[in-house]
Formats: sequence, structure tokens, C-alpha cells
Amino acid sequence: MIPVTKPYLPNREKLNQYLDGIYERNWLTNNGPLAQELTSRLEEYLGVENLLLVSNGTLALQIAYRALGINEPVNGKAAEAITTPFTFIATASSLKWDGMQPVFADIDPETWCLAPENIEAKITPQTRAIVPVHVFGNACDVEAIGAIAQNHNLKVIYDASHAFGVNYEGESLLKHGDAATLSFHATKLFHTGEGGAIIFKRKEDLERAKKMINFGITGPESIEELGINAKLNELQAAMGLCVLDEMEANMAARHAVWDTYERELANAVQLQKRSSHLTYNAAYFPAVFESESVAVQVADLLKENGILARRYFFPSLESVKFLGHADHQPVSSDIAGRILCLPIYASLEGRGQKVVIDVIRSSFARGLLQ
Ligand SMILES: *Cc1c(COP(=O)(O)O)cnc(C)c1O
Repeated sequence: MIPVTKPYLPNREKLNQYLDGIYERNWLTNNGPLAQELTSRLEEYLGVENLLLVSNGTLALQIAYRALGINEPVNGKAAEAITTPFTFIATASSLKWDGMQPVFADIDPETWCLAPENIEAKITPQTRAIVPVHVFGNACDVEAIGAIAQNHNLKVIYDASHAFGVNYEGESLLKHGDAATLSFHATKLFHTGEGGAIIFKRKEDLERAKKMINFGITGPESIEELGINAKLNELQAAMGLCVLDEMEANMAARHAVWDTYERELANAVQLQKRSSHLTYNAAYFPAVFESESVAVQVADLLKENGILARRYFFPSLESVKFLGHADHQPVSSDIAGRILCLPIYASLEGRGQKVVIDVIRSSFARGLLQ
């Protein structure tokens, strides 16, 4: 079976060495030496400051909302955040979970990111923030979104779960927004099994968030504010340090897979239009087919051949009832209906990938895809 993704497993001996250190120190969590080392190594690798490790990418979003204060109700009503319907459920459900109302604005038909021109019409007196997603590692229109936020006094939190290591105009894309969040889930490009991080623009927000992730505890006998447990532990940090050491080889292998897909399939499917001046991390290979029926038939055909492609992201989130916002988003629901993410991971060797390509090409040859 060829899965849609496979967690990257780093060199085992190296991981054992880190584990030996953990056993010697008997220090398993609470900002241990490996978490500290991973923090500074990630800041250096990504070219950012004010990075805070947390236990997963969903808590990264929730802590960012609270550190920036956007969860506070406005005139007794739930605060609103304008976000994209074309994303993983956590972007919107984390808002709802923390008492905010996600308000969807439609995406751009080519970049698949939140379209700035759709944002302003959604702003109300309750709006406190914009929560765009750098979907599949593409950059949102950060300049236009930043300008809207400034004009309306809103915070911007980018869900950058897909944008690890992506640079925009020569600098980390993660520097944009009041905060940007990362997920280090096992299936992500860089991972710690479970884990995540927040990159804050301002040091004071980082300091507030540091207290929040450890129950609001600030000393042996002082608890200053409401907090939660969102710490990343030493075992997670050990995995992260090992994966980070092998990032270059991991990325090179993924890029090779990505380039082959592009070469073989670019004429047959619609690919995401990427912002210019952007580096790419080859984390996903999303392909949009002519119609929903074609996308579903291709997915079925792949499955018959032991290949899992995911309808990712489907459905468009305005159709998810418990999020409580039903305005139809035509572009997002159109793309969501026609998209498949094809298998991509470092160890997907040439032969395995060839099968994926052959199945898709044969479905075209059979006239299935017209
Ligand atoms: C993976 C992901 C998340 C959630 O991250 P977890 O680490 O699984 O909690 C949030 N948003 C997006 C866009 C994601 O892809």
C-alpha cells in the first residue's frame, strides 16, 4: 500500500543518544535542556525570533489567540475571527472551542489562500482578528492582509502549519502577522511526533504565552494568571532534534518526488499558483481535477491499486454545522470538491511514484477524465 504520507523516521542511533541523556538527567519535561536546544536551533534554522514550543499545532493556535487577547468577548458577544473555509478543521474549531466565532471569507481560485478582497465585507464590531492559512505552504497575500488589519485594528494570526522553512522575499514567511503557528504532528514535514510552535512578532506576547503554557505558574508559590498545560516534553524535543539534523536530505527527496509529479501531471491537472518570491517546501502535492466526479473516480482507481490519495481539504468548512456559520463559499467548496493530495514523502521511491502516475495517466487514456 502507498499511503498519502509517511512520518519521517530519523537515524535510530542518534535518537538513542538523546534518550541516554534524558535517562541520565532524569528530566522529562518542563522546559528541559532538549526543549531549550530545539527552541534555539529552530529559531536559527527558520530565521525567526520569539519562538515558543508547545505540545501540538492546535494548542499553538489557541495559545496565540489568548496571548493576543482576541478571545475576549466584545460588548458581551462572542468575538469574531475572519478565516478561510479551505483548511484543516483545527483552524476553525480551535476558534470555536475558545468561545470565538469563525467567520468564513472565500479563497482565491488560484492560490487557494484567503482572498484579501473578501475580508473587509465580513468585518463587524465583534471582529478582533484575521486567521489566514498559508495553505500547502503557499504564502497568503501578507501585505494586503496586514494593511486591512492595520486599518481596522485587528490582530493577524497565520496558521502556518504547512509553511515550515518557507521563505518569502528572502525572509521567513513566519515573520508575518502578530503570530504564526506551526504543527509538528508526525505527518508534517518537520515533526516531533506531536508538537507545535508559535512565532510571535513581539517579545511581550511570547512572555505572556510562556506563562500560559505552564498553568500560569510563575514561581514555586506564585500563580499569576489563567493557564493551561501546553508544554512540549523532552522525548518530543529529542525526536525534533534528530529530524532537524536530516532536514536537508528529507527536503531533497520530497522535492524530487514533487518535481516528477509536476513534470508528468502538470498538463492533466490544475496545480496551485504559488506566490512569487517564495521558496517551496514540497510538503504536499495537491492536484485539482476537472470535476468532483473525476476527482472521486481517480481516488477510487488509485485505491483499487493500493494507493491512498486524500480529499484534502474536504469538505469546505462552511458546511460543517457545529461551526455555526453556513454562508456558502463558492470558490472554496468548488476547489474542495475537486482536489486530491497525492502521496508524497521522503521514502516514496521512484517505482512507487511511477505506479501513482501510471494509474492517473491510464485513467486519462481510458477517457475517464474529460
Ligand atoms: C496539522 C494542522 C493543524 C493541527 O495541528 P496538530 O499539531 O495536529 O494539532 C492545524 N492547522 C492546519 C492547517 C494543519 O494542517
